[in-house]
Amino acid sequence: MKKKECPSCAMEVDAKSKECPICGYEFPQSNSLVPVIAIILIIAFLLMIFL
Ligand SMILES: [Zn+2]
Repeated sequence: MKKKECPSCAMEVDAKSKECPICGYEFPQSNSLVPVIAIILIIAFLLMIFL
């Protein structure tokens, strides 16, 4: 099973869990979307400069 490290208490928890069972830290769910939004913003910014 995949594990991920809790940024709050540094314990390894199930990668699918929405929050840390040890300290209750809530993991951000939109992790995969953030880079896409960043790339779109960068492209839009570059278009504004060159057009
Ligand atoms: Zn934790």
